[in-house]
Amino acid sequence: MTTTDTTTAAADQAAEQTTARPFFGHVIGNQEVRSIDGGTFESIDPWHDQPWADIALGTAADADAAVAAARKAFDEGPWPRMGFAERGRLIHKLADLMEANAEELALADTRDMGKPIAQARHDVARSVLNFRFFADHARLAVAETLPMDSGHHTYTRYEAAGVVVAIAPWNFPLMLETWKVAPALAWGNTVILKPAEDTPTSATILARLAIEAGLPEGVFNVVHGYGPDSAGSALTEDPRVDRITFTGESGTGRIIGKVAAGNLTPVSLELGGKGANIVFADADLDNAVHWAVQAIFRNAGQVCLAGSRLFVQRDIYEEFLARFTAAAQELVPTDPTREDSLFGPLASREHHAKVTSYLDTVADYGGTVVTGGAGEGLAVLPTILTGLPLDAPHVTQEIFGPIVVVHPFDTEAEAVHLANDTPYGLNAMVFTENLHKAHRVSAALDAGTVWVNCFFIRDLRAPFGGFGDSGVGREGGNFSRDFFTEPKAVVMQITPADPEA
Ligand code: NAD
Repeated sequence: MTTTDTTTAAADQAAEQTTARPFFGHVIGNQEVRSIDGGTFESIDPWHDQPWADIALGTAADADAAVAAARKAFDEGPWPRMGFAERGRLIHKLADLMEANAEELALADTRDMGKPIAQARHDVARSVLNFRFFADHARLAVAETLPMDSGHHTYTRYEAAGVVVAIAPWNFPLMLETWKVAPALAWGNTVILKPAEDTPTSATILARLAIEAGLPEGVFNVVHGYGPDSAGSALTEDPRVDRITFTGESGTGRIIGKVAAGNLTPVSLELGGKGANIVFADADLDNAVHWAVQAIFRNAGQVCLAGSRLFVQRDIYEEFLARFTAAAQELVPTDPTREDSLFGPLASREHHAKVTSYLDTVADYGGTVVTGGAGEGLAVLPTILTGLPLDAPHVTQEIFGPIVVVHPFDTEAEAVHLANDTPYGLNAMVFTENLHKAHRVSAALDAGTVWVNCFFIRDLRAPFGGFGDSGVGREGGNFSRDFFTEPKAVVMQITPADPEA
């Protein structure tokens, strides 16, 4: 073989490998398309640390095409003009198709980010529920009538806002994307979704199903790509966009908030967290240990709501720590496609490097690794740290991995102070059998959601969002309606003006 032959053979082999992988395009105007400049990127399966799919890599040009399609569909198409019942019927049809294709959707998230398949199936079921809930919520919603002493009445209308850009993170890909897309569509908007670059594939599958369900052209579009200087930033900078809903890091939220302010585009920001989990001495210990494990080790700790700071009342500290440690040690990293997998790898090589950098400095800050540490490949073992000062980065920063810091406390006031001593305020957990203490502490915590004796349970009507650095605004139920619509007041004269008066 000559050099040229070798090169050609290698290129052929590479091409074969590329074509052997599935391809996921953008979906713009109900067409699945490649990028205008032909660019692609790979989605890496973190368990095998190998690419498993090829993805269209969007640029500003692709973002522009998607905004144009969504704009046209909103300004001229049938979707915003349809009745709630007809829109709801199409959204429920999409939910039916998601149920019929649940395994493909779940496997896409598992391959993209290493989420255990059973948990990915749970996320798909919740994603289906997002569509069903918001379709019904919009259809059954009531508006206000305000009788006025002046002989008028005012009534309110909730009118679709227009073109919505939804930007999502990689930790609960389909679930968090549909949390935004579902209410935006149900209220008559058109949408461009940019999934995270680490988890792109389920979004394209969703858009394929939306076409099959009969959503009109341009109503639901997907553009893949990175954030800065890529499709993400181009979408947020576009003045034709009427709403930006973002979930991701607090730093990224700050950037997007500034860009949106330039166009006076309303933004909803669901950002990072450093959740406090407070276990009082009177707690049901079995229950508290169970939820403390779920709160930090589910999804390998890559959860904005993670209970990453655990405060345990001193009387039960040693017993709790022993039981918590034993439960953590039962979780072993496994191939996330295995039916019995409960704990997978971290989502990417880059994220693994970030999380393990915290492990490297535990001793420097005087802390102790009770259990855990680095695992094989991209896995990090369930890790429990004690003895760290309150200003150590492990305590103050969002690690976003299976690493929890545990501290003892003595009094209720101290527990509340420790829990609130963070710029974040997404959520907190309280474990106690004392009803009065439960209410008192819940009221005192600076957090968007407080769970008492449980974790992760959600009512889709409830406000979801965070205090402080954890976000701006709330989504869920009427809070989503208020964000994805332009509320309008119509003032009508009821009693004609008296010409004699
Ligand atoms: P990230 O901020 O790095 O990225 C999120 C998304 O924003 C990605 O799609 C990315 O491509 C895009 N992006 C990045 N820079 C951008 C820019 N300049 N302009 C436009 N788009 C841009 O976050 P991540 O690492 O994907 O997700 C993890 C973070 O998300 C954690 O901080 C976690 O707490 C947070 N999170 C919050 C919630 C919540 O509901 N509050 C839920 C899940 C995750």
